[in-house]
Amino acid sequence: METTSTPTHCPYCALQCGMNITPLPQGGVEVTERADFPVNRGALCGKGRTAPAVLSSAVRLTSPLVRSGGRLVPAAWGDALDLIAERLGAARERYGPDALGVFGGGGLTNEKAYTLGKFARVVLGTSQIDYNGRFCMSSAAAAGTKAFGLDRGLPFPLEDIPRTGCVILVGSNLAETMPPSLRFFSELRENGGTLIVVDPRRTKTAEQADLHLAPRPGTDLALALGLLHLVVAEGRTDEAYIQERTTGWEEARAAAMAHWPEYVERITGVSVPQLREAVRLFCEPESAMVLTARGPEQQAKGTDTVGAWINLCLATGRAGRPLSGYGCLTGQGNGQGGREHGQKADQLPGYRKLDDPAARRHVAEVWGVDPDSLPGPGRSAYELLDALGTDIRTLLLMGSNPVVSAPRAAHIEERLRSLDFLAVADVVLSETAELADVVLPVTQWAEETGTTTSLEGRVLLRRQAIAPPPDVRSDLHVLHELAARLGVEKGFPTDPEEVFEELRRASAGGPADYSGITYRRLAEENGVFWPCPATTGVTDEDGEDGEDGEDTVLDALPDDPAGDTESAVPDVHPGTPRLFLDRFATEDGRARFVAVAHRASAEEPDAEYPLLLTTGRVVSQYQSGAQTRRVAELNAAAPGPFVELHPRLAARLGADEGDPLAVVSRRGRAVAPARITTAIRPDTVFMPFHWPGEGRANTLTNPALDPTSRMPEFKVCAVRVEAVRPV
Ligand code: SF4
Repeated sequence: METTSTPTHCPYCALQCGMNITPLPQGGVEVTERADFPVNRGALCGKGRTAPAVLSSAVRLTSPLVRSGGRLVPAAWGDALDLIAERLGAARERYGPDALGVFGGGGLTNEKAYTLGKFARVVLGTSQIDYNGRFCMSSAAAAGTKAFGLDRGLPFPLEDIPRTGCVILVGSNLAETMPPSLRFFSELRENGGTLIVVDPRRTKTAEQADLHLAPRPGTDLALALGLLHLVVAEGRTDEAYIQERTTGWEEARAAAMAHWPEYVERITGVSVPQLREAVRLFCEPESAMVLTARGPEQQAKGTDTVGAWINLCLATGRAGRPLSGYGCLTGQGNGQGGREHGQKADQLPGYRKLDDPAARRHVAEVWGVDPDSLPGPGRSAYELLDALGTDIRTLLLMGSNPVVSAPRAAHIEERLRSLDFLAVADVVLSETAELADVVLPVTQWAEETGTTTSLEGRVLLRRQAIAPPPDVRSDLHVLHELAARLGVEKGFPTDPEEVFEELRRASAGGPADYSGITYRRLAEENGVFWPCPATTGVTDEDGEDGEDGEDTVLDALPDDPAGDTESAVPDVHPGTPRLFLDRFATEDGRARFVAVAHRASAEEPDAEYPLLLTTGRVVSQYQSGAQTRRVAELNAAAPGPFVELHPRLAARLGADEGDPLAVVSRRGRAVAPARITTAIRPDTVFMPFHWPGEGRANTLTNPALDPTSRMPEFKVCAVRVEAVRPV
């Protein structure tokens, strides 16, 4: 391996900051910022800067482990793979293919996510595959698809933000989750634009806002409806836009008009003058945006909540126009790509639907199998985990740690323990891997090449910079070897570029069309935005520009959709930084209003559980913490969980700063020290969810599912808080 610097991207969140990796003469690597990548422009947060520490950590997995005598002990790769194949084969024989579960992750590269989905459906024949991205942004995906006919997190690049007039940021604490992105919002304000933050807590992000609206958790659907009511009442709708570019306005309008500002104030706690001010700031400029994140999305009504914010954009003509639109800030590193290429329960590569006969034919032809052999849609992530040990007897899990990250986590931990067989591929021995029968040590990030798709829909190339430890293999190697042992000798290459070439063909003509993207282009350009159809070479197998001659999403997009991004390679599609400027990706090209109404959260406070719990992240840890909790610098900054509460609540409990508090929900009890602040509402407590053990926030969270997206209600549940007295 050469000791020159390799340009690549961060292993963590969906911002996918550009960085250089340089091997050091004394061993290990150094990370430096890449000023040429337009998203982070030379900035990295602490997680990105310290990412190499995980690779050389003392707890890094360096050989396969197999359970023997109740303990995980080192084993040879061949023996570990033989055992997995034997146990999967035996379970399939005894119980049928749907007894085999597969669980993926939003951090897997596109190549891995694609291969995992193909492995589940072609080799195992199971419908029971989903991934932890279901917990991340699936409500926004469902609402975006309903309204616009297509889900791509952001339909415009982040660089548009400083040039718009107003941004409403709903349920996102970017100052902690994606610090380099804050620069776009600072520049927005420097340019005279305004930032409105909607969050029950006065977060570091909210502190930078021109207006902070702090609704009671679980009521931002009502808040959006109240704003739309005022937009109508104050005559601020864009009637020409509604006529020309939308359908369904009358029903949506009627639903919003039932949400009087005073009624919304009672539900949300946001005052009528604040509602009016938000409407003024949002409607007065020529352009404006609404961006949502996990706050509105991780609710049992998440799809409707996001739909209400989209309605606000549509009624004011703020979608599919320059510098205006609705977008979702996807969280996980490859949360966007992970949901496009087939590890989701209901999808095939290219963001095709698994229950669409034309999509099945197309993908089956690429895979060389009979379309009828492909299973149908399976269970969503929580439902799949909940079925472990009952219908589902074995689980193959890659890149996820549900013991910490799943809602009602103690129950999910028990379900994992009840499996006949669990195999986990990971970088470190996560809390979930600790329960496994076989653990496989796999490469990640700087040790391998692969593509990810950022929150902007920009496909990026992560390049291998260093060699992995000698006995560590890639997930692609694992799937190749297991497929061969289960009787499928071909179709599971270990070379990521070979996988990507097949992914291009599988995605051709689909909504997320990558067929015009190559590794060479990704290496030469700073990423390529999908859809990016091939102009030559890779097309549908039938030679049409869509599935079996049908119209596709691409037919609904402008001929030259790219705006101002030019390709460095002539005679190729430039990619699509900005979607919907001429048409939405629906059959008639119009966006759809969805009539929605406020409803209560799945669990409301009562005498026994009088408070609300909301959960989230801190700047120095990432998701379940499986990796970041292994980094000394990050642990020093964020050593453990805490319970954030208002001084009035603390006084009622007789609690001082740092005192242990028990938070109790219908699902369990978690204990963590008090952090007292006026930045939170007195009726609400907050816990970060990165830690296992007695401070595990997800012991408490409610798995109530959104009826469309099947996303759990992480963001709100009823709890009581008790001071923990010394015994
Ligand atoms: Fe990595 Fe996200 Fe931090 Fe950027 S903001 S360095 S992508 S964790």
